[in-house]
Amino acid sequence: MGSRSIIEPFRIKSVEPIRMTTREQRERCLEQAGYNPFLLHADDVLIDLLTDSGTGAMSAEQWASIMRGDESYAGSRSYYRLAEVIKDIFGFQYVLPTHQGRAAERILFSSMCKPGDVVPNNTHFDTTRANVEHVGARAVDLPIAEGRLPAILHPFKGNMDAGALIALIAEAGADRVPLVMLTVTNNSGGGQPVSMANVREVSAICRRHRIPLYIDACRFAENCWFIREREEGYAGKSPREIAQELFSHADGCTMSAKKDGLVNIGGFLAGNDEALARQESRLLILTEGFPTYGGLAGRDLEAMATGLEEVLHEDYLQYRIASTAYLGRHLSEAGVPIVLPPGGHAIYVDAAAMLPHIPARMFPGQALAAELYLEGGIRAIEIGSVMFGSTNAETGEETLASMELVRLAIPRRVYTQSHIDYVCEVMTDVFAKREQIAGLRIVWQAPPLRHFTARFQPA
Ligand SMILES: *Cc1c(COP(=O)(O)O)cnc(C)c1O
Repeated sequence: MGSRSIIEPFRIKSVEPIRMTTREQRERCLEQAGYNPFLLHADDVLIDLLTDSGTGAMSAEQWASIMRGDESYAGSRSYYRLAEVIKDIFGFQYVLPTHQGRAAERILFSSMCKPGDVVPNNTHFDTTRANVEHVGARAVDLPIAEGRLPAILHPFKGNMDAGALIALIAEAGADRVPLVMLTVTNNSGGGQPVSMANVREVSAICRRHRIPLYIDACRFAENCWFIREREEGYAGKSPREIAQELFSHADGCTMSAKKDGLVNIGGFLAGNDEALARQESRLLILTEGFPTYGGLAGRDLEAMATGLEEVLHEDYLQYRIASTAYLGRHLSEAGVPIVLPPGGHAIYVDAAAMLPHIPARMFPGQALAAELYLEGGIRAIEIGSVMFGSTNAETGEETLASMELVRLAIPRRVYTQSHIDYVCEVMTDVFAKREQIAGLRIVWQAPPLRHFTARFQPA
């Protein structure tokens, strides 16, 4: 029994064709896109692993929710259902829907932070960092040391360094730290989980200093599954019970429901502080919408409520984490260097290790992403010196990132095992001819966030 395949726990009712292209067609498309996968037309992509955000498939029950959605401007039934689901799983009394995660971040930081403040996180996601900095505060990443080393195994590489948090609070002064955040799982750190012990420890530090703890909850269900599999004492608990315990240590959360909400658009901000929630509502009304819809349609709220229930199903989470691990295992067996252990939502290929003949200033990650598309129509993104580096306008010198990675993000419930097998085959073929892959140079760029629009040419 134990050796049988972990299968997709669903059957397929509606299909969307994907288009095979020839290598010659892909060469043309990639050249037109300036060797930047962000600039490809999605129709020219066969397997799209650009992101797991908003790219999942909704269930039949979620589509039924779409029809049940109540489109009343104020006091929508769908809002009250969503708020009940969130109260049950997350335990927070005040729920503000937002169109996606970054809107929740903007409202939270605008309400809680002032210039000169410091916001610690295990690792800030890029929109989180940008929103902290937008209000004049400083975003500080405090991952444990293992979190920065791709090849080192650790069950909870997403953990925050508690000692560094204590030191930062002592240095900045508790009154300069309006909140502490924990991102579960740690997206920018490779989709790695945070342990319950770490949540408890960080929470105790925060309570001692009367600093609120907020969870960036985008992939909370995937994180809870890792806790169940890897942390002593949780094997017998349901993902819902683990989630309830995790959030009981926090004062609020931000959520992009485009991840573990299993919807294509949506998010929320939740907490237990009534006065703060009132202040946040005023900002929500200003730019998002009335507090019972927050920039979403009633049907979106209803589908999100159903998605938050479904994402905690054990057979779903077992399949989800197993399919990411499956891709990681097969790539590792083929010799492809990846960030270990596999995260929840993505596999990160270590392009610097795979293409040592391409120096970082010639963007090995971007070159690998381009080759994956040419070889098999697969779209992935570079997370390296294109994304985090910059060019000095006067000297032309490149500031480089600490790692050169390519992320293969897996959309939820979209691709089957044979799609994943195909990805392994293409990557294996690319790996076999890795020495022939050439670097790229930037011919056009527009900072900041240059990775979205930069254009390249073979160097
Ligand atoms: C996606 C994401 C966000 C931002 O959410 P959007 O819905 O893209 O605005 C914030 N934090 C983390 C960890 C994320 O993965």
